Amino acid sequence: MIKRLLLVLMASALSTSAQTTSFGVKATPVGQKGVTKVIEEEVDNSVVISTFREAPSPATKLSRTFQLSKLNKVGFTETTKELQRLFAAYTVQRIVDGSPAGSSKATGHVTTVNYALLQDLGDNRFLAKAAWPAADSNEILAAGVDTMAILLLDKPAKVGDTGKLTSMHVGTVSLLFTANYPPLVGKRLTLRREAFLECATLEDSPAALQKFIESVNAGAELSVLTYEQAACKKCAGFGFTREPQKGQLDKRIDCVDCAKTGKLSVASETKFVP
Ligand SMILES: [Zn+2]
Repeated sequence: MIKRLLLVLMASALSTSAQTTSFGVKATPVGQKGVTKVIEEEVDNSVVISTFREAPSPATKLSRTFQLSKLNKVGFTETTKELQRLFAAYTVQRIVDGSPAGSSKATGHVTTVNYALLQDLGDNRFLAKAAWPAADSNEILAAGVDTMAILLLDKPAKVGDTGKLTSMHVGTVSLLFTANYPPLVGKRLTLRREAFLECATLEDSPAALQKFIESVNAGAELSVLTYEQAACKKCAGFGFTREPQKGQLDKRIDCVDCAKTGKLSVASETKFVP
């Protein structure tokens, strides 16, 4: 399902360029015997969007299971509070779509994007000035601040519209187009920009959690990615290391791996089992 959505972002490039070619950008001779010739200015308005770099996914370092049958039993970490926390993370990693299960695992980071539409690229695709927060300390997605991005919206919109949308980062795309915003009007350009697909995520509600539990108990293989705090290996959680000094106290060296906190945020995949 997600693949189909991605194709929507790219695929219409073909039809758009075909149209432009058949519509004209022709030199038009007017009059007979070639006495008068009016030549229309050639403007290539075709839009070509292609994948430049896929959305990166975090390298998971921890793998855990959450066993529903152990929920709230003494001596186990499976608590209602932990289940709710994991489920909340799970809901924003699922895209509601027309697939049989009702939703699909997001293939890219889901984030909120504030935007102002700059140019209509056809088929609900827009070039926009946008802002979004960084993900995973810039590893997955660097923050955007008044940054040009490509958006695929759910509904038609118009240049100048501003708003905020929930979207999935689909990676960096290469956009070949003719700009029609100042000061680049008429310039044929290639831009490489982050692309976002407007989407709806699962609802975080008690009813949705109940349905989720039933799916896991029925054998669905579901997992969630979270960032967990783990002790820094380099400094053993102290935030610094010691270097022996002759005849003096050990020298303390601040740990750069964890920025002196003694803790690291580690990408962790939790699988749910009955
Ligand atoms: Zn450290």
